[in-house]
Amino acid sequence: MEYTFPVTRTTSPKAKPDEHALGFGKYYTDHMFMMEYDEGQGWHDGRIVPYGPLSLDPASTTLHYAQMSFEGMKAYRNPEGRINLFRPDMNAARLNRSNRRLCIPEMDEDLFISAVKAVVRADEDWVPSVPGTSLYIRPFIISPEVSMAVHPASRYLFLIILSPVAAYYEGNENELHGSRIWVEEEYIRAAVGGTGFAKCGGNYSCGMIAATEAKKQGCEEVLWLDAKEHRYVEEVGTSNAFFMIGDTVVTSSLTGSILPGVTRDSTLQLLRKWGYKVEERRLELAEVLEAAKDGTLKEAWATGTACVISPIGLLRYKGENYPINDEKVGEVSQHLYDVLYGMQTGKREDEMGNWVVTL
Ligand SMILES: *Cc1c(COP(=O)(O)O)cnc(C)c1O
Repeated sequence: MEYTFPVTRTTSPKAKPDEHALGFGKYYTDHMFMMEYDEGQGWHDGRIVPYGPLSLDPASTTLHYAQMSFEGMKAYRNPEGRINLFRPDMNAARLNRSNRRLCIPEMDEDLFISAVKAVVRADEDWVPSVPGTSLYIRPFIISPEVSMAVHPASRYLFLIILSPVAAYYEGNENELHGSRIWVEEEYIRAAVGGTGFAKCGGNYSCGMIAATEAKKQGCEEVLWLDAKEHRYVEEVGTSNAFFMIGDTVVTSSLTGSILPGVTRDSTLQLLRKWGYKVEERRLELAEVLEAAKDGTLKEAWATGTACVISPIGLLRYKGENYPINDEKVGEVSQHLYDVLYGMQTGKREDEMGNWVVTL
């Protein structure tokens, strides 16, 4: 079912930014979606309003105890000038899984999808069309409840804000490059039993220190190992990690500390459909490094909404470099990128039939 929402249009629309200099999260559109939750009443009063600051009591629980959840997705301008979303049902379902873990009330998935569609339609002029650009969509839930006590709130706010963003790969939209990845030995991102599978703010604040260290070491991102033994590879920064060893593609199984990425799932489904051998299992760092040394590690890449596919050129571990595929972009990485990005932008047919939702 599709929900509809009242729209209050801004009386002072902003000037649109230069589509060639969008950056990431620098600009926000004219409108946002807003909806409240009150215990006993459920989610209510969904509406589209002019984009603007929130008024929050300084004692709002989210500000202190990080009870919040969020999503990340993109809208693309297709060759017909219309707007494509990619598998929004997956984001709706994941937000509810995050919510369950964070003791935040769940939401009808049709309500979530309707809200995303409605706010993107309200700001459809903001979906950029320069190759590689997109409209980043950030749905999130916070609590405005005033309390210093640590307990689940009884009032929440659901918002969706929109930001036109630059191509992840600047220059040529199809020109990927291999990034340098720092294998993190000291800090951890998420432990089994914790919130690693949920998209919630706390997971990211605790990872910043490792990303900072990686940059100091001349690397772009962090390869996270499991929290308990520091033995298994888990994720790359805020993306899922894939390794092609021999003719088998391996990614970590969803252990509870892995974020179940929409791009991860799409990659697995496509590879299986194309006849690749694919394994979801725990993968030891030692196996990856050994394979890098003896040349059986053919390719590695990260997957996520922001980058789609980001090839891994090199791993750095204990001061030693482990180049992968001579730091060049591999065939499988490039093909996955071309197909996924092509489908998302409508430049290729949706070979899965129902992944692309056109507004
Ligand atoms: C969002 C995210 C991903 C990628 O998920 P997508 O749905 O593919 O964008 C992977 N890992 C972490 C930690 C994330 O936050």
